[in-house]
Order: sequence, then structure tokens, then C-alpha cells
Amino acid sequence: MILLITGPQASGKGTQAELLSAKLDLVHLSTGQVLREAIDADGSLGELIKGYVDKGALVPDSIIMMFLSTYLTPENLAKGIIFDGFPRIEPQLNLLEETLAEKKAKIDRVIFIDLSEQVVLDRLMGRLICDKCGANFNLKTLPPKEPGICDRCGGKLIRRSDEGSEAIKNRLKIYEQNTRPLFKIYKERGILEKLDGDRSIEVIFEDIIARLKKAGLVT
Ligand code: ADP
Repeated sequence: MILLITGPQASGKGTQAELLSAKLDLVHLSTGQVLREAIDADGSLGELIKGYVDKGALVPDSIIMMFLSTYLTPENLAKGIIFDGFPRIEPQLNLLEETLAEKKAKIDRVIFIDLSEQVVLDRLMGRLICDKCGANFNLKTLPPKEPGICDRCGGKLIRRSDEGSEAIKNRLKIYEQNTRPLFKIYKERGILEKLDGDRSIEVIFEDIIARLKKAGLVT
């Protein structure tokens, strides 16, 4: 099964993708996380990527596709993949579909977690990330058990370097101008599942599972 999970910044798509990958035994591929790991690994590629990410700009498709191709192995395709934060623009969607078609696979469902701009901004203000394992927390919606410390690995919680106000503005603009228009394509194909993201993590997760069951993708 190939799933896409999409929605505005801080819609909770990363959290839901993790829950889904655990429950359905899917490979979770977050382009944002892969890029942050490349930045942490240092070197000239990391530096180049950091220049884009810190501004809230899109990383060029050639770099994204290079990472992507390493994940689209026969083993991962057989297991199933959930793409998180990808595709963000139409050329990425076209490249993904061409690559999947070559491997006799296709996008089965697109999970779109919708959220109003006001809630997005509120949530972004409270967002924290573990500097060791990348886990997400939110002071408002998903606080860590101990302030400043990751529940999962004990790492330090920090603000993301792309969460200054200019970078946030850029990311929201790209989402509205480039990513949101893709939903029309998914809808026309009958593969779009639009969900209200202003609910608890558990309720949204149950909703996603129910939709996948209805679509015959989960038993
Ligand atoms: P969010 O969706 O909250 O902006 P992500 O972790 O998905 O967070 O992405 C963080 C940043 O990584 C983006 O602002 C962008 O710079 C880069 N990025 C992630 N996915 C892509 C992609 N598919 N194409 C280009 N750049 C990407």
C-alpha cells in the first residue's frame, strides 16, 4: 500500500504517519526528516540543504529525488510506504507517479489533514523537536512529560531552525500556492481523504483507520 499524508505545517501529519507506520507496518518516509538528518550529517550537501530549509524554501527536486530513489527499493515497495511531506509541488507528484508506475505501484490513498491558518499559527508557536531523535512535541497539544526533555530518548527539546517568523511565512505560502492545488488532482481521481485536523491525535488516527478500512486497504 502506498499512502501520502499531507496538510499544512503543524497539522500533525508527522505524528499520524508514525502511528500509521507502526500499526500497518509501513515504511515512513518524511522528506523533512531525511533532509534534517542530511543537515546533521554535515558536509557540503548538508550545508547546501540547510540554506533552503532555514529559509523555509523548497529544496530542489534533484536533491529530493536522489534521496527518494534510495527509499523506493523493491523491499520497501513490497512492505508499503507512507510519504510524509512529499510531494509538495506538481513536478514532484509527476516524478513520484512515473517512478511508481515503472515499479508497477501507484498511490492508493491521500490523507489530507486540514487545519485553519489560525490554528496552524498557534501550533507552530508551541512546537518543539528533539535534537537527537527528531521526535515532535507541542507545548499546547502534545507536551513532553518533563519540560525540555524528549519522552522517547531523553534528548534535548529545541525549536526548529526553520521556525523563525520569516521561514514560517514562506512555508505557509508555498503550501497555499503549490501544495494545496494538488488536492484537486487527488480528489478528481477519487483517492483523497480529507479529515478535520482540529481534533485529538487519537480521534484523527481512528478516523484515518476507518477510512482505510472503508477503502478496503486495511482489514
Ligand atoms: P513542514 O511540513 O512542517 O514544513 P517538514 O519537516 O515536512 O515540515 O519540512 C521542512 C522543510 O524541509 C521544508 O520547509 C522544506 O525546506 C524541506 N522539504 C521537506 N520536504 C520537501 C520536499 N518534498 N521538497 C522540497 N523541500 C522539502
